[in-house]
Amino acid sequence: SHIRRGLLSSASCRSPRLLNSARLAPSLSYQSIAGMKVLAVLYSGGEAAQQEPRLLGTTENQLGIREWLEKKGHEFIVTDDKEGPNSVFQKNIVDAEVLITTPFHPGYLTRDLIDKAKNLKICITAGVGSDHIDLNAAVEKGIEVLEVSGSNVVSVAEHVIMSILLLVRNFVPAHEMIERGDWQVSEIARAAYDLEGKVVGTIGAGRIGYRVLQRLVPFNCKELLYYDYAALPEEAAKAVNARRIEDLKEFVSKCDVVTVNCPLHEGTRGLVNEELLKHFKKGAWLVNTARGAICDKDAVAAALKSGQLFGYSGDVWNVQPAPKDHPWRTMKNPLGGGNGMVPHYSGTTLDAQARYAAGTKSILENYLENKPQEPQNIIVGKKGYETKAYGQR
Ligand code: NAD
Repeated sequence: SHIRRGLLSSASCRSPRLLNSARLAPSLSYQSIAGMKVLAVLYSGGEAAQQEPRLLGTTENQLGIREWLEKKGHEFIVTDDKEGPNSVFQKNIVDAEVLITTPFHPGYLTRDLIDKAKNLKICITAGVGSDHIDLNAAVEKGIEVLEVSGSNVVSVAEHVIMSILLLVRNFVPAHEMIERGDWQVSEIARAAYDLEGKVVGTIGAGRIGYRVLQRLVPFNCKELLYYDYAALPEEAAKAVNARRIEDLKEFVSKCDVVTVNCPLHEGTRGLVNEELLKHFKKGAWLVNTARGAICDKDAVAAALKSGQLFGYSGDVWNVQPAPKDHPWRTMKNPLGGGNGMVPHYSGTTLDAQARYAAGTKSILENYLENKPQEPQNIIVGKKGYETKAYGQR
């Protein structure tokens, strides 16, 4: 099926050189759209980005495309200023033809802004996950939405495995104890387990979810489960020995560890809420590197406090940057551990940045030259949704 395309082989396996191999040649279609405005909302990289040019997804290093775009006569506006009507983002969206955004510092393109964006033809997500764009509004206005599918799926899958291990093995409190100068093995060991023999399940078994399952195989878990409205191809499920559970409550009730790997859309917003958390095994671990808003902020914090969840870990937040007083920064289980939260970075390793910068350029190049886009990158095409991953319609 369409969404299964690229499950086993993704752009992450391609080298940036390959993604870049179709070089730009002057063409009539390019001439006809010369002088367009390209607006990019990226995160500010500060001193780190000045010292490290491979931080391509930053306002400083600008995905490495400024010179290339300007040579072709296009205007390129790059900003991290994205909130409120006077922000650089909202002021420039009114006449931009191309919008480039990143999930790591999302420029929220709401229906209101889409109404104001009279020239906007294409939104490119430098990464994976385009929920910060109102996709239904984009469909109605005929605005295309593309992302660099596969560009960071290995990066995230590795982070998921790390996050599962750090919760199950009680790593964070152990390290904090060492930094404090203390040494009390029993305090840590009382909340530390092996992953071997546990039941692990993924909500969403697409590119990332499947890679998580693949990486779990050598840990000899008791069982690997998945919940997804799209079944894995039989041979793919067999290769990782994963069983599909079609009822979500039944699924979570069987898992010691739940990992969330589905996109955020109207069917997944608040999916893990107070009611569903009651059906989790008492003391389960929950890892969410998909999108913060899939899990209810307050319900998760309360479940961790009560011990219904024994750990919560991930890198995504319902609002980004997360406010200083966001409960997920400091929430703890009854033994004072169980928090593995970090800022949104799992999919923006330096390796991933090389791939999504090259992929963004390639999508832009196809647009400029009026060439067909790679099908797996199209979320919303000229005629509407081209993927089944953003909800059942
Ligand atoms: P994908 O499209 O390959 O797979 C998504 C899977 O989720 C599909 O199999 C789809 O059927 C399934 N799904 C959709 N709705 C569902 C629902 N209601 N219940 C169960 N399953 C459902 O996407 P992917 O490349 O695996 O990425 C998944 C998501 O991970 C992205 O949309 C993004 O939000 C997130 N992501 C996060 C980071 C990060 O840095 N933290 C990086 C990349 C992607």
